[in-house]
Amino acid sequence: MVNMLIMGKPGAGKGTLASKLLEHYRLAHISTGNIYREEIAKGSAIGQEAQKYISQGELVPDDMTNGIVYDILKNHPMPHGFMLDGYPRTKAQAIALDEMLHTLSIKLDVVINMDVDDELLMIRMADRRVCPKCGATYNVTTKPPKTAGVCDVCGTLLIQRADDSEESVKNRLRIYNRATRPLLGYYEKTDLLMTVDGALPTLTVFYEIVSKLDGINRGHH
Ligand code: AMP
Repeated sequence: MVNMLIMGKPGAGKGTLASKLLEHYRLAHISTGNIYREEIAKGSAIGQEAQKYISQGELVPDDMTNGIVYDILKNHPMPHGFMLDGYPRTKAQAIALDEMLHTLSIKLDVVINMDVDDELLMIRMADRRVCPKCGATYNVTTKPPKTAGVCDVCGTLLIQRADDSEESVKNRLRIYNRATRPLLGYYEKTDLLMTVDGALPTLTVFYEIVSKLDGINRGHH
C-alpha cells in the first residue's frame, strides 16, 4: 500500500508515468483534472462552475477543489493506496490536504516531482498528437503512428489538442511557476519529495521510483 502525489509541469510526461505506477501498485487514481472534465461532460453544477475557469486556462478556486478531494479521500475505498494527480496545485491546497490527511489518519508516503526544463517541454508539446475519436496519444518524434497523421488504433486523422498550442502551453507554464512551483519547497521540508528526471525514458524513471519505494518499504518492516 502506498499513497503518493505526482507533480510536474504541464506536459512533463506525467500521464505515461502515472499510468505505469497506477497499474503496478493498483492505486486509486485521483485526478482533479479528469474529475472536472467528467463533471463538464455531465453538465453538472460543479462542471458548469469549473468550466468558467478551465476555459480561461485558470485554476478552479481552492475551496471547490479541496471539497472534491476530501469527499473522495473520505468515502472512496482505496485498499492499495492512491495517487493524487494534478492536486495540490497551490500552497493553500497543500495545507488543506495536510489537514484532510490528518483528520482521516492517512499517511502520505511520497511526492514524485517530474522535472523537465521548459525548452524540452515546449518541443514535446509541439510534437504531441491525439486521436479525436479514441483518445490514443502519439508524438511525432518519440512515438509516431505507423502511418503519418493517422491513428494506429482506429484510422482517424490525428489532431493537436487545443491546449497544446504554444500560447496555451506558455500560459500553463506561467500559472505553474506562479502557483505550483512553491509547493516543491513545501514538500522538500517534509522529506517526502522525490525528484525524477523527466528527460529520461519513462521506463527508466518508473524503475527508479519502484526501486526507491521498495527500499523505503523494506526499511519500514
Ligand atoms: P489538468 O488535466 O490536471 O491539467 O487539469 C485541467 C484543468 O482543470 C486545469 O487547467 C485547471 O483549470 C483545472 N484543475 C485541475 N486540477 C486543479 C486543481 N488542483 N486546482 C485548481 N484547478 C484545477
